[in-house]
This record gives sequence, C-alpha cells and structure tokens, in this order.
Amino acid sequence: MSPKASSVQLLQTLEKYIGYTAFRKNQEQIIKTILAGQDALVLMPTGGGKSLCYQIPALLSEGVTLVVSPLISLMKDQVDALRVNGIAAAYLNSSLSSDEQTHVFRQLRAGELKLLYLAPERLIGHENRFIDFLRSINISLLAIDEAHCISQWGHDFRPEYRMLAEVKKALDNVPTVALTATADPITQKDILDKLQLNTPQVFVSSFNRENIHYRVAPKRQSYGQLLDFLTDRRDQSGIIYVLSRASTEDLAERLTQDGFPAKPYHAKLDSSIKEKHQEEFLRDETQLIVATVAFGMGIDKSNVRFVVHMDLPKNIEGYYQETGRAGRDSLKSEALLFYSYADVIKLQGFVEVEGNDTQSRILREKLQQMAVYGDLRTCRRKFLLNYFGEEAPDYCGSCDVCLKEYKTFDGTVLAQKALSAVARLEERFGVGYIIDFLRGSQSQKIWTQHKGLKTYGAGAEVSKKDWHRYMNDLLQLGYLRKSTDQFSTLQLTEKSWPVLKGQEKVMLAEVVEPEEVISSTSDQTIETALLNQLKILRRQLAQEENVPAYVIFSDATLQELATYLPTQSEDLRKISGFGEVKIAKYGEAFLDEINQYCIEHDVESRMSALRRRSRKKRSTEKKTDTKQLTYDYYQKGKTVYQITKIRNLSATTIHNHLAYYVQKGSIPISDLVDPEIVTKVEDAIYVHGDTALKPLKDALDDSITYDEIRLVIAHARIGND
Ligand code: ADP
Ligand code: ZN
Repeated sequence: MSPKASSVQLLQTLEKYIGYTAFRKNQEQIIKTILAGQDALVLMPTGGGKSLCYQIPALLSEGVTLVVSPLISLMKDQVDALRVNGIAAAYLNSSLSSDEQTHVFRQLRAGELKLLYLAPERLIGHENRFIDFLRSINISLLAIDEAHCISQWGHDFRPEYRMLAEVKKALDNVPTVALTATADPITQKDILDKLQLNTPQVFVSSFNRENIHYRVAPKRQSYGQLLDFLTDRRDQSGIIYVLSRASTEDLAERLTQDGFPAKPYHAKLDSSIKEKHQEEFLRDETQLIVATVAFGMGIDKSNVRFVVHMDLPKNIEGYYQETGRAGRDSLKSEALLFYSYADVIKLQGFVEVEGNDTQSRILREKLQQMAVYGDLRTCRRKFLLNYFGEEAPDYCGSCDVCLKEYKTFDGTVLAQKALSAVARLEERFGVGYIIDFLRGSQSQKIWTQHKGLKTYGAGAEVSKKDWHRYMNDLLQLGYLRKSTDQFSTLQLTEKSWPVLKGQEKVMLAEVVEPEEVISSTSDQTIETALLNQLKILRRQLAQEENVPAYVIFSDATLQELATYLPTQSEDLRKISGFGEVKIAKYGEAFLDEINQYCIEHDVESRMSALRRRSRKKRSTEKKTDTKQLTYDYYQKGKTVYQITKIRNLSATTIHNHLAYYVQKGSIPISDLVDPEIVTKVEDAIYVHGDTALKPLKDALDDSITYDEIRLVIAHARIGND
C-alpha cells in the first residue's frame, strides 16, 4: 500500500478521476483505513457509495486491485464507467471469449491494470492455478463486494464465495475490504469469521436513504392510480414490481397501450429477451420496467426515480432492498406501495416452507411486519430504520404519514346518503356496488330496478376515492359494519338510525394532501428544456460508446449543468461528475449545447451561485434537505409566514419542518406556540397519548390548530429519539 494519503490528496484524486467534489459519509475514513493497510468491513446501504471505497485506494496504490463480485451484469458497467474516466480496468467472467480472457491475463502480467473485477467462480477449480497466478502478480488490495454471500445467514448465500477464505489466506499480506448492504449482525459476524480478516475495522453507515420518499396507497383501482402517478412522472425512469410473472407481461402491455411504454422482466423470460429489456432500461431507451423480484440484483442504474410495488413484498428486507434501487444518484426519488390486507392473506400460502415449521413461522412473522408497515400511522422511515436496528426521529418530513394532515368536517349529509343507500339496497351489497350506486354509475353492473331508487346518484359529486375513504371512516366509527361471510356486504348498525333520523351529527376526516416536497439541487431553477437537450446529447454519446447513459453522466450532473449553466471549460471542474478525462472528452459538446441555449433564451451563466454554494458545502456531503432549508430561514429571523412565501410551501409543511427541530431541542416551543396553549395540549396528551392527532384535536378548543398540536407533541418528545 502507498504511504498515508492526506485528505487533500484524496479529494484531489476524487476530483481528478471521478469528478466528484466531496466524499460522502465515512468514505474518506474507510479509504484512509484501507490505504493504511488495514482490513475493513464496510456496511452501507444500496446506493451509499461503496465502490469508491476501493476504487480510490486502487488508484493511489501500486499494483492491481481485485474486486470480487457475484453480479456479472454489474461488472461490465462498472468497468465501462471506470474506463470512461480513463482508468485502466477489466473483468474476468464467463461472458468473455477465450481471446478476451487471454488479453486480460496479458494486461495483468504487464501490470497495466488498476482494477480487475472477478466472478467468484473464477477462483474455483483448475487446481488453484488461478490463485497461484494471482500470487505471481502485484496485488494492492482485495475487495469483496456483496460479502454477505459468504454467509448462510444472509439472504443470498453463494457457495462459490467460500473459496474467498482460501484466496484471502493465499494473499496473506494483501489488505482486504469486505463490503455489503446487509446490516444484520449475525451475517456481519459470520463474514468476519469466514474471511478471517486481520483485526478489521468495521464501518457501519446509517441505512437511511434520505432522498427516498416513502408512500403507501390503498390497493384499490391501483391501475388507475398508477396511471395518474406515471402521468406526473413522464420521462422518468422507474421500476414497477409485481408478484407474478404473468402480471409483468400483462401490466407492461397494458401500460404500453395506454401510452407508457414498458418492458416486462422475470426469471422465466428467454435470456436474450431479459438481457435486451435490461439493457434498454439501463440505456434509458425504456423508461419503465415491470418486473418480479428477479429484476434488480446487479442493477446499478443511478437515475431510477421511483419504485412502485403493485403487490405486497414478503418481507421488509426485500422491500427495502427493492426500494433502495431508486435514487442512487441522491436526487429526490419515490417508493410507492399499493397495500391491502387481502395481499397479506394471499401471501400467507407463499411463505410456508414445507416440513420446516420454524422457518415458516419466521417468514410468517416477517410478512406480518409488512402488514404493520402498510397500516402504519407513524413515520414510515422510522419504522424501517428501527426494523434494521437503527434509531430514528419520530418525524422525517418525507413520508406520507409525516406529511399527511387530517381535517374534520361535518359529514352528516354524506353519511345519511351512504346509510340510506345501504338501507335501500337491503344490506345486500358490498362497498364497491354501493359507491357506484351512490355515484349514479351507468354501468350494466347496477341492477336496472336500482336505477329508479331515490338515492341512486345522490352522491355523484363525490369522487370514488373519497367515497371509499368516507365508507372506511363510517365503518371505523361504527355507523356501518361488514358482514362476516365471504360477501362482505355493508350493513347498518344501531348507531346508524340516529344519523338517518337527523338526530346525530357525523364528523368525517378529510386528508389534506401535502404538496410535493421539492428538494432540488438548490433553490435555483432548472432549465428543463436544456435538461432535455442534454439528456439527448448524453444518449447520443452513450450510443457512440456503447455504454449505458448514466455511465457517461448521472442525472445529478445534468441537473447541475442545466441549473448553473457553465459556459467555459474552467466552470466544468466545479460540476459534480466532471473529472479531467470527462472534461477533455465531453466538455466541449456539453458547453456548446449550453452556450447555444443561453444565447437563444437570453439567460446567463449562474456559476457564481454555485461558487457560493460550494464554499459553504465544501467537503461536507451535498444534502438536499428541505427541512434544513426551512430551519436556515427561520434562524435568519424569517417568520413562518415569510418562509411559506419564500419557499412556496404551506404553513403546515413549514410547521412540520420546524417540529423536527423542536423535537431536537434546537427551537424552544415558546418561540412558536403560546405557553397557555402548550399547557392545554400537554394536558390533553397526558390523557389521550400522542400517537393520534384527531383525539387531541377533538378534546381541545376549536381555536387550537393541528399545527400547534403537532409542535407541542414534538416538544413533549424531546430526547425520545
Ligand atoms: P453501492 O455500491 O453502495 O450501492 P455505488 O458505489 O454504486 O453504491 O454508488 C452509488 C452512486 O453514488 C453512484 O452513482 C456513485 O457514482 C455515486 N457516488 C458515490 N460516492 C459519491 C460521492 N462522494 N459524490 C457523489 N456521488 C457519489
Ligand atoms: Zn416520516
């Protein structure tokens, strides 16, 4: 290994070869440890940035770094990405012809390579000839990616990985780094045991993916909801997971017909088709892939903007891994799950392992946790992180639960309509029929004689979605019940009659939909037309070089270009993603495009804004934390009202952001809520608890707002993180 590198040297190497301007989280510390010749185990979530942890040491050391990875498809991309940056890299796996292999061996003997990617199968057999060969060349570092594959406790055990213990022994004095995104402590210990790392340093990163927004929607007319979702996200890359192979093909076809070209992917597709679809997706030629869980292992596409689960995954581990494929470029991304309890029931059969009661029980419990997640009324991120043994604050500000606000209103008339429909239809129909009937549906499904009834069409002004929610509320509040037979028809209860007679008021809750939290790279506007032109340019370059588009540049880089509008080569150094080689290779093409755009649209470069930003953020991780931004304004003395105007966000959103800092103890509650109100809310919390807002709201004076209640809850929870 090379002598100790200073932070400045490391940063220079990063900027020069990779083009990034700062290290993330503990990357720098890991790199320093490796360069000091110490073994390490690195636990980082998918997309966290594990690759740089061995790539930078590889660049700074004599000899070649061996990277063992089970993911053959990923290997080629990684090697392509390195080569595009002018780094000598190659791979050895079963996909190479024997001529190609010979060439790689020649390069290795001549000491021409900095990184060699290797499938573990390579190490097996040949009477250890390959290992002997490795001993004959100068190896600087052994990096073992997906290291959990060595453990039977992990979720992806691979027998070939056992050979790595041999290799490690054979390359006795070569420092070794094992990397994985599986945090589970048993697996972790097993990796250390099996690999026999020398007094390794263990690095555990937070598994929080702060740029992913989590959302669960009721699984009802999910196809329609999906179309709405996609309409708002045209031209974005996304993965849609479904449970069965057949539905990948059906759904992909249906989406394509509805104007959203999508390709299916599942294990039983012909391998040439699988490869083709995957390749098209990687190259941004197909934006949507509809897949079973077979898709994704080894997909290193950085600009996946959303992951949708049409069906319930079997466990949180799988769910988190799949959603983790969104947003590797750290730009805002989304995870949407369509959930209904019916899926839990459906999956129960799937998680039975025949003849193994213990395993079946474990898997059933894991499935139950998925149901808990679906029904959650508290922060989803907190739940996920806690599941993996990590602490988290109660409020993340970036999941549907944290952002939801409920407003109650007098729903007596709506309730009367619903209840009388149930009565008129003689308690013989289910929710779907009742709603269609209330909305005056022309469908054949509605019996002709029903179309003559007075209540038919009485609730036409309310959307289906809203009706479903109101029906749910009426059920929960006990104004209706469902029959327990398989038909689940709606029936009246003793509570229904006072309502129908106009003797009792019904309060229903209405969700105030949160605005989208925009966390773009900065407060600057993005020139979207330019961004699209740059994407086209990127695609052309990628096609010329026969690599996926994101190997040329990530979306994050293009967004910076379209935001700060660099117009000269010097400017490009400051753009994340432009290293020396990429400036030389692609700089001109991109500058031409930008200059042209600036002239045509009469706009000027905004590099000065970037300079200000980079001075402030130098060497800290670039974060796009919307609540932090609110806090900054607040600290500068802006009022909540002023911040709503500046940020174009609602007062509730701003209060939610501030609540986070109240709970952290950074803002005293007395700054935001009148002490008298604080006391009242605290008293109510004492009686009603702090998990649900509505009971608190109901118990308090009307003049006390939800925002105030939420702030006081945050205050009451100080120190409970
Ligand atoms: P992992 O292997 O942990 O899943 P990767 O190493 O593939 O993650 O990194 C995920 C993405 O983040 C890649 O697009 C990578 O280029 C990018 N990345 C990693 N480190 C940095 C950094 N310091 N600055 C900017 N982008 C980074
Ligand atoms: Zn949350």
